[in-house]
Amino acid sequence: MRNQEQSENAYDVVVVGGGAAGLAAALILGRSRRSVLVVDAGEPRNAPAAHMHGYPSRDGMAPAAFLAEVRREVAAYGVELVRDKVTAAEPDGSGAFDVALAGGGRVHARRLVVATGLVDELPDLPGVAERWGNDVIHCPYCHGWEVRDQAIGVLYAKASGIHQALLFGQLSDDVTLFLDGADEDGLPDSDWQLLAAAGVSVVSGKVDGLVVTDDALTGVRLAGGRVFPRSVFVVAPRMVAQDTLLTALGARTKETPAGPFAEVDPTGLTSVPGVWAVGNAAGPAEQVVNAASAGYRAGVTINVDLLHADLDRATERRRSGVFSPEGERAVARARAAGV
Ligand SMILES: Cc1cc2nc3c(=O)[nH]c(=O)nc-3n(C[C@H](O)[C@H](O)[C@H](O)COP(=O)(O)OP(=O)(O)OC[C@H]3O[C@@H](n4cnc5c(N)ncnc54)[C@H](O)[C@@H]3O)c2cc1C
Repeated sequence: MRNQEQSENAYDVVVVGGGAAGLAAALILGRSRRSVLVVDAGEPRNAPAAHMHGYPSRDGMAPAAFLAEVRREVAAYGVELVRDKVTAAEPDGSGAFDVALAGGGRVHARRLVVATGLVDELPDLPGVAERWGNDVIHCPYCHGWEVRDQAIGVLYAKASGIHQALLFGQLSDDVTLFLDGADEDGLPDSDWQLLAAAGVSVVSGKVDGLVVTDDALTGVRLAGGRVFPRSVFVVAPRMVAQDTLLTALGARTKETPAGPFAEVDPTGLTSVPGVWAVGNAAGPAEQVVNAASAGYRAGVTINVDLLHADLDRATERRRSGVFSPEGERAVARARAAGV
């Protein structure tokens, strides 16, 4: 419900990004009768995958169908949704924000939710980008069950080390770690012991690319041409926060193993008053269910924040008007009596 004092392009909350995180915040704010605009560029991170797993009651649903369903739920509470991209968000000097859209529009927001997700930067190997989300995967919890017992190749990455090889070793007895030219002697003895215990084979040559036959991964090719038959290839993308709006606003970041992400409190509030960051925009580990949970929590917190801001303003108005304690009590008694 639009506050009477608000103009056509002014909202209680503008949510930037309409993935699970942003839509969950919008859902709870819409249900709280807040005026909300969701601006979404429409490129959720898991779009390349045909199925979404690990979300109770929605396990196996197509990501696009899941988001379409949440958009329908959110719209039913009066939340406005537009397909556009926010290019800038600036403080307006009164604690609120002017928000610019790529399509040329400008809107005003009392509070901002940045739910812009992250970008997976893939290893630069022929075939990897083309097969991403299909038979080139990264996450055992998202896709592991579906590739159980298959011939799985894992690309060694310095940042994650042998971790993925061990995790996928729990799902298949046929896992090969491709060191991709990394120095064998660089792996500590403890890593070799774990790999042996997990039954993971190790191949040391430089990986040249993937072999695809009839639209299916069939092998991993090393420099020199030798091909190892594999039907699944696991990579560790570099996860880069889509945080340009946050950094332009001056939000502090914290270091994570994946690089810098916004520093937020348990409700998602950033170091900039009035700006929340949720989902993968605030952390690389968030899966869909955690992203939705973070959006929900931020939505509740923002509603309470706005409630107190509204009550403070109403109190201030009364003080500067015809306020008297007797008058206030009479108004409250009349309200209670339903007058
Ligand atoms: C291949 C793959 C498969 C996955 N499978 C699973 C799975 O099975 N289960 C699971 O739980 N997780 C899975 N994940 C992780 C999942 O994708 C993320 O956890 C989830 O998408 C995070 O939700 P989010 O709302 O934070 O971000 P996103 O879903 O990425 O949504 C962010 C949205 O913000 C938009 N946006 C960005 N910048 C702007 C801007 N400036 N203005 C307007 N809009 C903007 C984007 O276009 C996008 O629509 C998978 C990830 C990948 C890569």
